[in-house]
Amino acid sequence: MKQFGVIGLGRFGFSVATSLYEMGYDVLAVDIDEQIVQDISDRVTHAVQADATDENIIRSLGIRNLDVVIVTIGSNIQASIMVTMIVKELGVKFVVAKAQSDLHAKVLYKVGADRVVFPERDMGIRVARNLVSSKVLDYIELSKDYSIVEIEPMIEWIGLSLKEIGIRQNHGLNVVAVRKNKEDIVVSPGPEYVINEDDILVVIGENRNLRKFEKKDE
Ligand code: ATP
Ligand code: ATP
Ligand code: CA
Repeated sequence: MKQFGVIGLGRFGFSVATSLYEMGYDVLAVDIDEQIVQDISDRVTHAVQADATDENIIRSLGIRNLDVVIVTIGSNIQASIMVTMIVKELGVKFVVAKAQSDLHAKVLYKVGADRVVFPERDMGIRVARNLVSSKVLDYIELSKDYSIVEIEPMIEWIGLSLKEIGIRQNHGLNVVAVRKNKEDIVVSPGPEYVINEDDILVVIGENRNLRKFEKKDE
């Protein structure tokens, strides 16, 4: 069973820590603020009040035994960098750090972060895309050029099979799965699969091919 540590319990860190705990994982939550530690104490495995920039304290908490540590100290960039470095030096295998800017991210990678996240920026992009696009419901960016997205079918596709539409040739998209409703999902639909009005298509493709689904078509 994986053990997690979350250092810095702002809105983002608090949510990461309590979500992991609700999923059944062991979570050690650390913050310098006594009140926040009290607030989270019965929603994680262990909650500790400590200044995480103090290497001796961090060492005494047994952080090195954790599988993943997420450093979610945000606005204090200096503390975020120091803590990331200390945790990595202690030998934690996978360290995720939250960044405020590209420069901050670069430094975090330099001191050993295995992954850097930008929750505000990423959520902003996600919300914006959802607001302007009528057909794209959700997306995962795989690389600069490719994504997996959930789309509603085009009107003219309804009642036709994947083969009749020629989704691959005509639209450059591969249908990975079709969601029928909350429970039912058809994985890897074949050429004879006929699209229904309520279907949500999970497709993988090049961003330039996916872009036409992003425009509002009123
Ligand atoms: P969010 O947007 O997620 O609410 P934020 O980016 O605004 O957070 P802060 O509120 O500055 O970030 O920091 C997150 C948490 O990190 C705070 O609860 C703060 O008390 C804690 N923190 C800051 N410095 C330290 C430190 N040296 N050791 C432990 N916790 C710290
Ligand atoms: P091709 O190599 O010409 O793409 P194929 O031999 O893989 O075709 P089939 O699996 O028989 O073809 O499917 C025929 C056509 O139906 C495909 O070319 C494609 O346009 C469409 N199709 C079938 N399955 C999918 C899918 N999962 N996603 C997108 N298109 C599909
Ligand atoms: Ca913030």
